Amino acid sequence: MVKERDTQYLLLTPGPLTTTRTVREAMMQEYSTWDVDYNDIVESIRTSLVRLAVRDDVNLSSCTAVLMPGSGTFAVESVVGSVIPPDGKILVLNNGAYGARISTISRMLGIETIELSQLETELTNLNQVEQMLIEDTTISHIAMVHCETTTGMLNPAEAVGEIVRRLGRIYILDAMSSFGGIPISMESTGAHYLISSANKCVQGVPGFGFVIADRAELEATKGLARSHSLDLYDQWREMEAKGGKWRFTSPTHVVNAFACALDELDAEGGVQARHNRYLSNQKSLVEGMRSLGFKTLINDEFQSPIITSFHYPDLEGFDFQNFYDALKGRGFVIYPGKVSNANCFRIGTIGDVYKEDVLELLNKIEEIVGGLKER
Ligand SMILES: *Cc1c(COP(=O)(O)O)cnc(C)c1O
Repeated sequence: MVKERDTQYLLLTPGPLTTTRTVREAMMQEYSTWDVDYNDIVESIRTSLVRLAVRDDVNLSSCTAVLMPGSGTFAVESVVGSVIPPDGKILVLNNGAYGARISTISRMLGIETIELSQLETELTNLNQVEQMLIEDTTISHIAMVHCETTTGMLNPAEAVGEIVRRLGRIYILDAMSSFGGIPISMESTGAHYLISSANKCVQGVPGFGFVIADRAELEATKGLARSHSLDLYDQWREMEAKGGKWRFTSPTHVVNAFACALDELDAEGGVQARHNRYLSNQKSLVEGMRSLGFKTLINDEFQSPIITSFHYPDLEGFDFQNFYDALKGRGFVIYPGKVSNANCFRIGTIGDVYKEDVLELLNKIEEIVGGLKER
């Protein structure tokens, strides 16, 4: 049974994504940023995020969570700009647009930046990461993207974390599109700063990002921020000292929707259950698309269940915009491609989306490309 919907179409995009009606309804409440009711919600979110990110209860007190207004990029920028000392140097592992964005941010902030730059379809070279860290002892921080949403590739966050920890550096992990949908933890990845946002796998609506941090590391970053509004330490101190207060106006409606989304994640059975649903969505999608003649961009071995890139089909008359519009008219919004060297489009399999929806999507795609073939 396909779930009854009350929106104009399903978003098969990795954020904003399709949310439940109950998450959207949570935005009907009004809150004052100064009121204890609201601050309690913020505190419960911070506690839940730490619980989601920490595997072993004994480590709960060594981690903390900070919420930061804006889209996910603002949270990335707040970490990069707030935790690296003036004489620090960051190594960015870049195999896609989100990795490249981290370099852009750090360079613009005047931080010494080097990259291990690889093809978008190429998995991070672990030997090279290790070599670079051994040879250049001035590298203080390493940043990598877990699920590179550009392609859908799942990068080896755990293996890189092992190297970074062994060689005594600080690890910033952009787990934006994976946290909540793929089981990872502060322990398994070794991340000192793990970044995600409200509108990805937790299935909230857009408006803020969050950082789960190693408490001792964050405590040591006082005064390092290169921006006032994105000062991670300052925002954290305010939340800690004032029981869930933000420094400036916070997206109250979005925050309440996020609290509801966290409850729904729990009700679904937690991250493992959600991961299984995304895996099943993605498996159905790829099987169906392959049977229609589409080819995936990424090797199956590195493919995430979050989003999948498909090559344009080798069909006469195929035009992405027409394809997009035809699908949208049939109730599904997909994503254009983002890789530099291939014509692709992307389909997300996260959000309040189920296997039945994917099968329905495949029917519509068959209808559209079948029409193309017959011309
Ligand atoms: C979504 C996303 C971001 C943040 O993008 P915004 O548009 O700023 O929300 C960063 N990194 C990755 C890997 C993402 O998927």
